[in-house]
Amino acid sequence: MVNLSPHANGKGFAMRRKLIAGNWKMNGQRADGLALTREVMAGAKAVAAKADLLVCPPFTLISEIGAALAGSGVALGAQDCHAKVSGAHTGDVAAAMLADVGCRYVIVGHSERRTDHGETDAQVNAKAKAALAAGLIPIICIGETEAERDSGKTLAVVRSQLKGSIPEGATAANAVIAYEPVWAIGTGRTPTTPEVAEVHALVRKESGLGPDLRILYGGSMKPSNALELLALADVDGGLIGGASLKAADFLAIAKAAP
Ligand code: PEP
Repeated sequence: MVNLSPHANGKGFAMRRKLIAGNWKMNGQRADGLALTREVMAGAKAVAAKADLLVCPPFTLISEIGAALAGSGVALGAQDCHAKVSGAHTGDVAAAMLADVGCRYVIVGHSERRTDHGETDAQVNAKAKAALAAGLIPIICIGETEAERDSGKTLAVVRSQLKGSIPEGATAANAVIAYEPVWAIGTGRTPTTPEVAEVHALVRKESGLGPDLRILYGGSMKPSNALELLALADVDGGLIGGASLKAADFLAIAKAAP
């Protein structure tokens, strides 16, 4: 079975294993979600030496896909959680509920949540804190808009999001950061590799989470650009949207990891 430790190299925290995470967003019904899961599972062994695999289906599929994934070594995650433990929050899902159905990770602060639901750094921070309290690993998303990049504000924006979104108690062992330039998500456009390297180096330095932190890149990652992105020193994996809906592409990205 694939070792699912965040730093599953068997040598403590000296090396960061790549994490290839699929964010299915609001896609998939039972039949196609299960078919995609089975295809990912079928290819998981072949990439186990390269990367840890994670799938984050919509809430409706989590339980069933979790059952299908049992023993496969592919980890299960969710795309959001509420900051509170329980209560009158219609339509929301608590972190402990996700842990209860087998989730190990939860994405928080995705730019689509920040845009569609007006989530602030403070709310993302509270959600990440709730995830930690439930024993989940939050994947905390940050990234600049196109206007912010064009006006030279990328590093300032990322620095401020890091400061606001990372909760007390987060460490390199229990949290992951995903750098996702908003303008690169679902557009087919990506920053240049020096631009990605610059932001990831800043995240490593200024997150306060130390040298063992896993930092994912997200935004139009696909098989054809995965190697150049994953080969960068501070890129420890990918958060994959569109390409995670095709098992062959998702697995090819993991296979491309150096
Ligand atoms: C995402 O939404 O996290 C993402 C990176 O999407 P895409 O890969 O489709 O750009």
